[in-house]
Amino acid sequence: MTAIRSAGTKPEMIVRRLAHKLGYRFRLHRKNLPGKPDLVFVSRRKIIFVHGCFWHLHPKATCHDARVPQSNTAYWQPKLERNVTRDQRNSRDLVRLGWKVLVVWECDTCDLHRLGKQLNRFLRN
Ligand SMILES: [Zn+2]
Repeated sequence: MTAIRSAGTKPEMIVRRLAHKLGYRFRLHRKNLPGKPDLVFVSRRKIIFVHGCFWHLHPKATCHDARVPQSNTAYWQPKLERNVTRDQRNSRDLVRLGWKVLVVWECDTCDLHRLGKQLNRFLRN
């Protein structure tokens, strides 16, 4: 379990730095968009969310951070599931508004080479 994360935390900084290095320009946390997206590529109509694996229940089987704690499960389960429901609603709303959405997971930021390719694939054209 990781500490509470908010804007400007490490995984988000890694994604920002990398996207910038790859030559993409973006805005941060546009409050007028659903979910206050972390990175907004306005002219490309593209959005990147950087999600902590624990808080957003990363659905990848190999991700070890995305587990509901074994203690106090009755507290954590609904809380974390609410986050996931909110994420899904925000993505859906953004897609309806004409945005393309990519979620980068905290554990994806460990492999910068792969992450760079993922960002390029999503952002180019
Ligand atoms: Zn993960």
